[in-house]
Amino acid sequence: MSSNIPNIIDGQHVASLIREEVSQDASDWLSLGNRAPKLQVILVGGNQASKVYVGAKTKACEEVGILSETLMLPDTTSEKILKDHIARFNDDEEIDGILVQLPLPSHITPLAVIESIDHRKDVDGFHPMNVGRLTIGQPCYRSCTPAGIMELLKYYSLSPKSKDVVVVGASNIVGSPAAIMLSRENEEGKATTTICHKYTRDLTRHTIGADILIVAAGVPGLITGPMVKEGAIIIDVGMNRIADPTAQRGYRLVGDCDYDSVAAKASWITPVPGGVGPMTVAMLMKNTLLAAKKAVYPA
Ligand code: NAD
Repeated sequence: MSSNIPNIIDGQHVASLIREEVSQDASDWLSLGNRAPKLQVILVGGNQASKVYVGAKTKACEEVGILSETLMLPDTTSEKILKDHIARFNDDEEIDGILVQLPLPSHITPLAVIESIDHRKDVDGFHPMNVGRLTIGQPCYRSCTPAGIMELLKYYSLSPKSKDVVVVGASNIVGSPAAIMLSRENEEGKATTTICHKYTRDLTRHTIGADILIVAAGVPGLITGPMVKEGAIIIDVGMNRIADPTAQRGYRLVGDCDYDSVAAKASWITPVPGGVGPMTVAMLMKNTLLAAKKAVYPA
């Protein structure tokens, strides 16, 4: 195996800088006589991972000076009841951002719920209005995880311009918006982007040519060293829980890349945890502050 040591893309560090910036902006906003920004979170059911994510988001709010409230609803909540709560939060002028933690129980249609959120409060950037505006290069709330990836590339001066970028995973919340952001002909984009998914016939044929490889499939160890070009920049979005009796929580987090073999060829790589994950929360803070300031959709 080669002795290549890649540069680490430190999401923890970049996220802490963004949070400090949001914290300062939020305090300036308050000192101008405005009320504190407020995020309303809705959690339906008892999914353990969702509880952990919501906990991390509300803690981050507290740290940066954003108020947050979490409405916890039982698994049995109907779509109608959930939408009624959302309608109430849409009308509440004290609430700037609304976040419905996914996944939802299987009897609820996620898109119907997302569409019921006022797009001006959709700080997750999942509403079709925001996704559509992203696609045509208009101001919008951008999905936090891909927006966080763009911040990481910017911070480390890893410009995607004219690079061949391959995104593995085509979900509405990570892969697809990441591909859109990277391929727009604007300051941060200008990449030639390929999207792969589970129907891609020969994944390696695509990944091996990637100058920047973004992996968001949710499949531990999907990408291995031989699938990666020498010197590639690797953004591993995967967050997979692997049972580990030696770990305190009984599991550990791994990405979608076989870290050692991929790192042996990469020029830059995100660790898991500590890569993309912290950026998602930081970008949510940023979006919530933008919502409070009505910076994306002026009143
Ligand atoms: P998803 O399940 O909605 O979508 C997965 C995508 O990967 C699909 O397009 C699917 O076709 C593709 N895929 C699945 N198996 C594949 C294979 N063998 N080869 C090629 N493509 C394959 O997932 P998601 O919500 O986009 O999340 C993806 C991963 O990113 C998960 O591990 C998730 O936990 C993680 N994630 C991390 C963050 C973060 O903040 N770091 C945020 C969101 C999601």
